[in-house]
Amino acid sequence: MSFCSKVKEELINISDIKPCCALAEMYGLLLFGKKFSKSEIYINTENEAVAEKYRNVARRLSVSEVGVKKFSSGKYRVTVDKAEGRLKILNAFGLSGTERSRRINWANINNDCCFSAFLRAVFLSCGTITDPEKGYHLEFSVPYSLKNDLKRILEEVELEAKEIKRGNSYIIYFKGSEDIVTFLTLTGANDSVLEYLGVKVFKDVRNNVNRKTNFENANFDRTLNASLRQTEAIKALKESGKFQKLSPELKILAEIRLENPDLSLGQIGLMLDPPLSRSGVNHRLQKIIELSQ
Ligand SMILES: [Zn+2]
Repeated sequence: MSFCSKVKEELINISDIKPCCALAEMYGLLLFGKKFSKSEIYINTENEAVAEKYRNVARRLSVSEVGVKKFSSGKYRVTVDKAEGRLKILNAFGLSGTERSRRINWANINNDCCFSAFLRAVFLSCGTITDPEKGYHLEFSVPYSLKNDLKRILEEVELEAKEIKRGNSYIIYFKGSEDIVTFLTLTGANDSVLEYLGVKVFKDVRNNVNRKTNFENANFDRTLNASLRQTEAIKALKESGKFQKLSPELKILAEIRLENPDLSLGQIGLMLDPPLSRSGVNHRLQKIIELSQ
């Protein structure tokens, strides 16, 4: 099951809802379906549980039969077929059916508590969330007439969403994991929030480890490159016969370097008697390189 399906399942199973919130929830679910007007009321959804919930709500409010069609793609379409049924639904939300465009009727979102129920339903109808393993993205696909209303209601709960046009729809979305967690918390998807945060913590730790490993690898490469230059200089000195003219300290150091190409300067310093600091070893090796040139 996708992460999105899990979130939706959790949201659908929230019970113990106040009557005022129940109205806001039904309103959000129907208003943000694919069509919501006198001539058409229906939803397209990939989620069977959402189709079932929409059907129950639409059937209760329209007091009529509501058709469910399953396409070969796996998608569902739930339609309020009867004109009088559609009118009953519109009336239930204070609409006459003569409204020019689909907007949020704020009278159906009475109290502060109702915002979370409304947004939960909006997400069920037209929202998707990306699996946090793959990225941080939550979006709603809405018609032009609803995009600013939705943004405004998100602002009410201190969420600033971005928008982009995709086909005939407008996508209202968040990219930040903090905004997504705020939204999920607000809608009551508590288990999903825990899962989300768990994945995020794991990813953050993994990224930190990768960054540290890359840093260590880069350091190791630098050590090896320097070592290569030093051993080549020492070999050149030997081939040209100049090696014998080096001071005893330089000769000992050069032999240790040749035998231990992967040791750092600090480690080489510890092998000398008496031990020598990292910068002391570096200084002597630089001298060897100079003499070889
Ligand atoms: Zn309420």
